[in-house]
Amino acid sequence: MNDPKPLLEARNLTRFYSVSQGMFQSHAEVKALDGVSFQVSAGKTLAVVGESGCGKSTLARQVTMIERATSGQLEFDGFDLVKLTDQQRKEARQRVQMIFQNPFGSLNPRKKVGSIIGEPLVINTALSKPEREERVRTMMGKVGLRPEHYQRYPHMFSGGQRQRIAIARALMLEPKLVVADEPVSALDVSVQAQVLNLLMDIQQEMNLAFLFISHDLSVVRHIADEVLVMYLGKVAEYGATEQIFQQPQHPYTRALLASTPHLKVQNRKEHIVLSGEIPSPLAPPPGCVFHTRCPHANPRCRSEIPLLLSLVGERRVACHGIEEGRI
Ligand code: SF4
Repeated sequence: MNDPKPLLEARNLTRFYSVSQGMFQSHAEVKALDGVSFQVSAGKTLAVVGESGCGKSTLARQVTMIERATSGQLEFDGFDLVKLTDQQRKEARQRVQMIFQNPFGSLNPRKKVGSIIGEPLVINTALSKPEREERVRTMMGKVGLRPEHYQRYPHMFSGGQRQRIAIARALMLEPKLVVADEPVSALDVSVQAQVLNLLMDIQQEMNLAFLFISHDLSVVRHIADEVLVMYLGKVAEYGATEQIFQQPQHPYTRALLASTPHLKVQNRKEHIVLSGEIPSPLAPPPGCVFHTRCPHANPRCRSEIPLLLSLVGERRVACHGIEEGRI
């Protein structure tokens, strides 16, 4: 945060969807992202966490330019992603790549690994076949694939190796930012650490920024520099990873950490149990959107939206209870 030149910066970003409620009913508006702000610098990882429906995937779609935000600013490497022309989008897209949860789904089973990894070069560069092959082989080495893997098909690989293939392909155009959507959640726990360590090594080598979307807080703690906690499209808390894990402030952050029992969280003020379902984004609660599940909710929480306020240092939190000093 507060980097003079972040690679990616969102300011008050919103993404609203108009949803049909039936043939004779008016359309409803879903605020999938509502006033989200954050920064990511080169070489750093921002993890976005929250339950399903919190806005993580919507955020990924804005950053990868699959969709355009409704309002606010989203700046990436000199591009304004909210107002891109088609030509600018083509250029910017090469600098942002994505890694998905299920690598097998994104690998063409009929193509050999060398050809899968080299595909972005065929589409986006004028390199000759031997030049492409050389680059592919170099990248395969970087991600821990062996030379003989070049001629094999994706089904011949384990889940971890398939994710290495997907990572290699994502890096071929030397992006500046990688959006990783649950990249290890489909892998065995023993393989997860290997792939996470690979991502961290590559990040250092290429000075890559990661936007890391995950529901697994132990993975987040391992890889992220900063954490953005989201709930129903809004930012609940934002700060440095160790601060968030050592001293979570927002009741929702505390509840999320408490629901991951093997995490060693010191200075846990209390054990908040997350009960009930996340409310429908079609009818979000008034005031603080978390008030229907928060043990500290008071009348103000039920009517007034809390602002994202600065705490000590770089930490931000949106909670009346903390502002009033009663939590
Ligand atoms: Fe709980 Fe109120 Fe804080 Fe929302 S604003 S998290 S309801 S105390």
